[in-house]
Amino acid sequence: MYNHVTDDVVKKLEDIVGTDYVTTSEPLRHSYMARGIMGLEAVLPEAIIRPLNAREVSQILVLANEKRIPVTPAAGGLSGGFALPAIEPGGIYMDMTRMDGLEVDTENRVMVVEPGLKSGDAWRIFKTKYPEWAPPIPDGAPPAATVLGDAIERGFSLVTGVYGPQADLIMGLEVVLPTGEIFRTGSWALPGAKPYYRWGPGPNPDGLFLGSQGSMGIITKAAIKMVPHPHHKTVVAFGGQNWEDIIIPAWEISKHEMGISERTVMVQGGNWPLVMTRWPKTNVPLDYKFYEKIGISEYWMNYEIWAWSEKELEFTISEIEKIYKNYEKEHNTECPRQELHPKQVASRLKKPNKIAIPYSLWQAGYLFITWYVPWMESPACMTEYCAKMEEYGFPPTMWVASIDHARQAIVMPIVCFDITEEGIFEKIEKFNRETTRSFLKKGWLNYRPDPFVHAPETFSRTPEYYKMLVKFRKVLDPNLILHPGRLAIPWESVTDLPYPSTEGD
Ligand SMILES: Cc1cc2nc3c(=O)[nH]c(=O)nc-3n(C[C@H](O)[C@H](O)[C@H](O)COP(=O)(O)OP(=O)(O)OC[C@H]3O[C@@H](n4cnc5c(N)ncnc54)[C@H](O)[C@@H]3O)c2cc1C
Repeated sequence: MYNHVTDDVVKKLEDIVGTDYVTTSEPLRHSYMARGIMGLEAVLPEAIIRPLNAREVSQILVLANEKRIPVTPAAGGLSGGFALPAIEPGGIYMDMTRMDGLEVDTENRVMVVEPGLKSGDAWRIFKTKYPEWAPPIPDGAPPAATVLGDAIERGFSLVTGVYGPQADLIMGLEVVLPTGEIFRTGSWALPGAKPYYRWGPGPNPDGLFLGSQGSMGIITKAAIKMVPHPHHKTVVAFGGQNWEDIIIPAWEISKHEMGISERTVMVQGGNWPLVMTRWPKTNVPLDYKFYEKIGISEYWMNYEIWAWSEKELEFTISEIEKIYKNYEKEHNTECPRQELHPKQVASRLKKPNKIAIPYSLWQAGYLFITWYVPWMESPACMTEYCAKMEEYGFPPTMWVASIDHARQAIVMPIVCFDITEEGIFEKIEKFNRETTRSFLKKGWLNYRPDPFVHAPETFSRTPEYYKMLVKFRKVLDPNLILHPGRLAIPWESVTDLPYPSTEGD
């Protein structure tokens, strides 16, 4: 279906962006692969290009269309392999990091970001220039991950507990279509208008690009809400004897919308292996008893609280404590408040907090798999997941967080594995397939899918939805030059294998 990047194409790419911003160097191409740490299946790109603006992006796409060469856009490239080519040949990798502009409009409480603006830089700029405001950056992602990459992924930002997934904060997009046209969404579509009204002059096509993993068009600018940044902050944590003990009280607290739950910007928890697997496997005790002795509860939930005054902060904590006391009484259980060392609180409040990076220490390989489930169904999901992880020989490391006042849970097992183990990737695929089949039947949805497991398993259960996506994709990208992401739309561009069906399941 696709052609290779030839010397002639490289020359034409250089004419567009300049010779300094195109490379076919093999070591450099491999270095981009290394960023996609969790991309279990990925194809080496043939050329890397670094455009400066939407016009150059458009010219590259027009050329790629003419030559029928696949293009993969990447911002920070740290979404876990989702910004790596998934089709053969690898084609052009469009590194967006030169486009790192940021404009801040405090009056309309919107910031305009380009795809290359890194979370670490956004946080630093706000801290020094706009301390009363916070950019919605992913909380735990490496500082080199971008604000826009997280919005495209509909990720988990530092205020997701209140504001919903990062994509909910979008007020307008500037998009370059695969055929080269440039357009804006929302009120931004009107020349000279500010991005103040998301729904714009007609039906809003934003949703086609958010969550599309770069398969529908390339976003060159996004207007994103920035959020107030009150500075009376702390983190409180409560333990529990089982998943219900952390999920039900958090639900009670999160239901206090327009009240205390507006202050619990981040509600997240997990189980004790989350602590253990942040160290090399050979250097730490593998038994819970050790962690119990150092005061780590088997399960716990953290509440990061932002308030406008000490009084408001204390009131929020005391209301949370009351809810826990009632819960303990009603359920005849114990959810002790966890003693947090000031250093623990400070490291949690630090942004980006880098807390998730050490999972590579356990045995080098790690994979975040993420599911959206209704909040109150998350205990069932996590119980099943942990049992399966143990059955497959993985430590049952599980993280969970609230989205939009615990309307949904983001359930994330962290699969820590030994990359040198024979057959490990097949084992992970089998584990993924088994859990996916079971979870889809329960109505739970994977996000950031694996192209060979979650995507086809999900789409084979949503055939009408899948057909509609393929239709939109073919309208926007008639030659299918943009990589299909991990969504695998259409399926046949990723593999020759027959499309799986639910028959015989
Ligand atoms: C250790 C670790 C911790 C993490 N913690 C978090 C967390 O707390 N919260 C969270 O939400 N995520 C987290 N992540 C996931 C990820 O890092 C974030 O979602 C991140 O913000 C993605 O941004 P990026 O710039 O790396 O995106 P990329 O990987 O560059 O891109 C994301 C997707 O969008 C596509 N894309 C990129 N640029 C464009 C563009 N301009 N137009 C169209 N498509 C484009 C890519 O092809 C890819 O499919 C974590 C990842 C790691 C490795």
